[in-house]
Parts: sequence; C-alpha cells; structure tokens
Amino acid sequence: MPPSCSRCVSQRVINLETARKLGIAAGALAVGLKGAYASLYAPGRLVPPSKQFPATRLASTVIAAATGSIAGITAGNRMFLHLIPSGEGTPWLCLGCGHAFRVLD
Ligand SMILES: [Zn+2]
Repeated sequence: MPPSCSRCVSQRVINLETARKLGIAAGALAVGLKGAYASLYAPGRLVPPSKQFPATRLASTVIAAATGSIAGITAGNRMFLHLIPSGEGTPWLCLGCGHAFRVLD
C-alpha cells in the first residue's frame, strides 16, 4: 500500500522505482515499434514507386530515430535519477504537490 505524502498528506503517490522501469520499457517498446514501422514501409512493398525512399536514406532515418529514442531513454532515466532523493528505502513521488521522498520498508 502506498504511503501518504509527508508534505501534503495526499495518497496520490507513485513509486519512482516502478515508474523508472516502466519508462525504460516504454522507451524500448517505442524503438521496437519504429523498427517495425520502418520495415513495413520498406521500399518496394507498400510505398508507391514515386514516393519510394532511397534505401540508404531509409536506413539513416531508422538509425536517427533509434538514436533519438535511446537518447530519450537516457535523458528520462537521468531525470528520474535526479528526481529520486538519495538515501535508503523506496522512492515515491507525490502527484499532488510533486514532493519526492523515501520510505523505509
Ligand atoms: Zn504531496
């Protein structure tokens, strides 16, 4: 059961550790989806010939998209690390006032 916020006593708190893991999973999923999307629209399949993307251009677009997503994950992860207060216990974030705190199990 989540604890209540130590500042505003709200019970709308999220576990930052879980949120961080979910964020990374969502980011990895986005990378996978982008790859699937790119292969779906590979030249000669669904794209009309006039709108065909040169293969090298497509490859660099996919790489750029993947790199961007990885950078996004890293930035998100860094944001979480910045958000999580140092110390022992489970990190929580209050959705009511934005206060981050830790609760010892
Ligand atoms: Zn609060």
